[in-house]
Parts: sequence; C-alpha cells; structure tokens
Amino acid sequence: MKTDINRLLDYLDELFPSAKCELFYSKDYELVIAVMLSAQTTDKSVNLVTPILFKKYPSLDALNNAPLEDIEETIKQIGLYKNKAKNLKGIVKDLIGRFNYRVPSDKEELITLPGVGNKTAGVIRAEIFQIPDLPVDTHILRIAKRLNLAKKDDEPIDVERKLKKIIPEERWIKSHHQLIHFGRYFCTARSPQCQNCKISDMCINYRK
Ligand code: SF4
Repeated sequence: MKTDINRLLDYLDELFPSAKCELFYSKDYELVIAVMLSAQTTDKSVNLVTPILFKKYPSLDALNNAPLEDIEETIKQIGLYKNKAKNLKGIVKDLIGRFNYRVPSDKEELITLPGVGNKTAGVIRAEIFQIPDLPVDTHILRIAKRLNLAKKDDEPIDVERKLKKIIPEERWIKSHHQLIHFGRYFCTARSPQCQNCKISDMCINYRK
C-alpha cells in the first residue's frame, strides 16, 4: 500500500482549507510562551489560562517581575504547570537579557530558550516569521504512521524529515496546520471517522 501524497494534500485542502494555529496570542513572545505551555496538553487548555496570564502581566517586564508562585497559580489547570512556570520565567529572562526583548528567528538560538525544543522552535519560526517548517506533533506523528508515511517506531524528528522530502516546501506550513486539524478533528486517536474518510484505502489503521 502506497500513500499518494497529492491525494492526501488535496483531501486536507478539502477538509480544512483555512487551518491555522489555534493558540491565542497577540505578541510574538506570547506565542513562544503559549507553544511551550502546550507541550503534552491541548491548545484548548492553554487557551483557558493564557488570556488571564497575559492580561495580568501584559509585558515581558511585567512577567519578569511576576512572582513564580503567582504564575504557577494562574496556569495550574494545565499539566506540568510547575515546570512550565519555571520555563516561562526562564524564557522571559532570556528574551529580555540575551535577545533584547525580541524573539529570535534562528532555530539554534530558539532552542536555547527553556522548554523550547525542535518542534516548538519550528512552530514559532513558521508562525511568526513564515519560515517554512513542518514540525511534527503527536497528531502528525499518529497520522503519518497510519498513512504509512513513517515506520511504527519513528521518532517525530524522523517523521519530520520524511514528510519534508515528499511535501513541497511551499506547503510545509499549511500542511502542518492541516495535518494537526485532521488529527484533532477527524482522524482522532481514539475514534477516527473512518466511515467518512476518503483516503481509507491508503490507511493501515482503517477501521471497518
Ligand atoms: S481511515 Fe480512519 S484512521 Fe485511517 S486516515 Fe482515515 S480516519 Fe484516519
């Protein structure tokens, strides 16, 4: 069974023509914080706490001066909040001290920020700077495996490399968002809509 990547991309266009980042943010550094907070939790739960956090502390300086305990209290609804609060303070300190209040566009620089790895850096670069990237999250990882675009034990970085080879660079950012939407709303982990799926013939997980 071979997945026809053009059919997949066309289907994503049909299902989610205007998929985009669903995290709430209005400033570049707010996106960095929101993406870091979204690790191992849903965008929805992050969106419940960030508007409160960013309203309470509306600048990098305000966040820098915020007591760690209050940041923890504000974001405690999300998983790993203690560690994430610490990372948040570290990010703010670095953006002020090392990057002169600006979010860097360079991946090597971004991944020096606490809690920011390859995936988070890719999301930030694509979203803020429109630099083509195709970071692989849990949804994209699952879909790539279901559609036989990756091996069962491939890590996200392997899948990213494989997808970048078969998807044209000018579609990386769009495909990233569309694949996440496909995983979040259609080909979900527990109850994928296989009966309505037009690419079930390409899927090794097709549930009759
Ligand atoms: S057939 Fe089901 S598991 Fe396979 S891609 Fe479609 S929705 Fe996902």
